[in-house]
Amino acid sequence: MADTYGDIDLTEEQLQICRLARRFAEEEVLPGAVRRDRDEDHFDRAIVDRLGELGFLGMMIPEAWDGLGLGLDTYLMALEEIARADASVAVSMSVHNSLPTQLLLRHGTEEQRDRWLRPMARGELLGAFSLSEAGSGSDAASLSAQARRDGDDWVLSGEKMWATNGASADLILLFARTDTPEDRRGTHGIGAFIVPTDAPGYRAGKKERKLGLRGSETVAVHLEDVRLGPEHLLGEPGEGYRYALGALEGGRLGIAAQAVGIAGAALEHAVAYAAEREQFGRPIKDFQGLRFKLARMGLRVEASRALLHRAARVYMKGETRQRMLSSMAKLEASEAAMEVTREAVQVLGGYGYTREYPVERLFRDAKVTEIYEGTSEVHQIIIAKELYSQRGTDQ
Ligand SMILES: Cc1cc2nc3c(=O)[nH]c(=O)nc-3n(C[C@H](O)[C@H](O)[C@H](O)COP(=O)(O)OP(=O)(O)OC[C@H]3O[C@@H](n4cnc5c(N)ncnc54)[C@H](O)[C@@H]3O)c2cc1C
Repeated sequence: MADTYGDIDLTEEQLQICRLARRFAEEEVLPGAVRRDRDEDHFDRAIVDRLGELGFLGMMIPEAWDGLGLGLDTYLMALEEIARADASVAVSMSVHNSLPTQLLLRHGTEEQRDRWLRPMARGELLGAFSLSEAGSGSDAASLSAQARRDGDDWVLSGEKMWATNGASADLILLFARTDTPEDRRGTHGIGAFIVPTDAPGYRAGKKERKLGLRGSETVAVHLEDVRLGPEHLLGEPGEGYRYALGALEGGRLGIAAQAVGIAGAALEHAVAYAAEREQFGRPIKDFQGLRFKLARMGLRVEASRALLHRAARVYMKGETRQRMLSSMAKLEASEAAMEVTREAVQVLGGYGYTREYPVERLFRDAKVTEIYEGTSEVHQIIIAKELYSQRGTDQ
């Protein structure tokens, strides 16, 4: 199989990392993907440990904090390779690399980085992220889990929802209200907390049974008077929401890379199948109706990958258009993944609809990329808002 990125200018280091990711994905991730999906085996620590050993859990953390100190672009290429094999493993890698570690890097104290970030970068501790609740998804600022001050401590109570790796991770970056019921402060009344998942009072709820991404653990989290010392608060007590949005801007590029990986795998299966399957005495790839389909699928994979890396470059330079381009890349890649996987099922006909072939899993896995880290509708709201703010008008 040719290198996905072999035809563009990569440094030798980037090329080596992409090849390592591809080899690891094919040899160690792909073989168990069908079983994990079938058994809804939500979490495979052995694979996460291997991700850590290979450095894939500390890719963007500076070497000074025990990471690899690589750029966002290199990380996204590696993530795409993992997602080609199993989107469920890719989401663990994405959440860990782009949310809790980035939050600690940006807002953590030296002590917090020493205690948490270093072992996370080395892959010894796995991080999760918990913003969503049953009643607050797209409208995340309306969350209601409460952090109450008690002397120097914080005491957390309430219910969170949809936490990826929320039962198996070692720590979770969790968002709760730091304002009081008598004095609500909206987006400035939310704090970010470093919560060890073995803290007394922290309890992971049932694992959601899902359409796709069945090898990934998604759980509710119950907080029953979880007492944390002041060293567990990240940054300022009322700024957690701002921190979360900042991290999610980069995080959604990880989801876009996941979507490109899913779509790329579906395309590859469809192209190979169409060359082998014969009907009416010839390979079905010779029928123009299918060639047009395959052409469009190839186009969408390449176009979404190109936009993803344009957005990554802009993000790395910190330009003002980063927010809009991150949303565009995530929206485009997730919609492309849905179209490409749907068409891949079609190219394989009845076989595509069975579990004998991987395209039905890819089709089911693709859907969530249109939902998490901002739904497609939310990204359209952001894009439109940014189009106007660039003209100097607000809305
Ligand atoms: C598998 C999985 C893993 C997840 N992992 C995590 C995690 O690790 N951590 C975490 O914090 N969260 C996680 N989430 C939660 C995820 O981020 C939310 O599901 C997502 O933000 C959408 O929120 P919601 O499900 O409450 O939908 P809602 O916000 O209720 O949206 C329902 C529908 O209404 C639309 N809508 C909402 N507001 C508007 C509007 N203003 N204009 C137009 N349309 C609108 C939405 O686009 C959507 O179509 C996960 C979710 C899933 C499914």
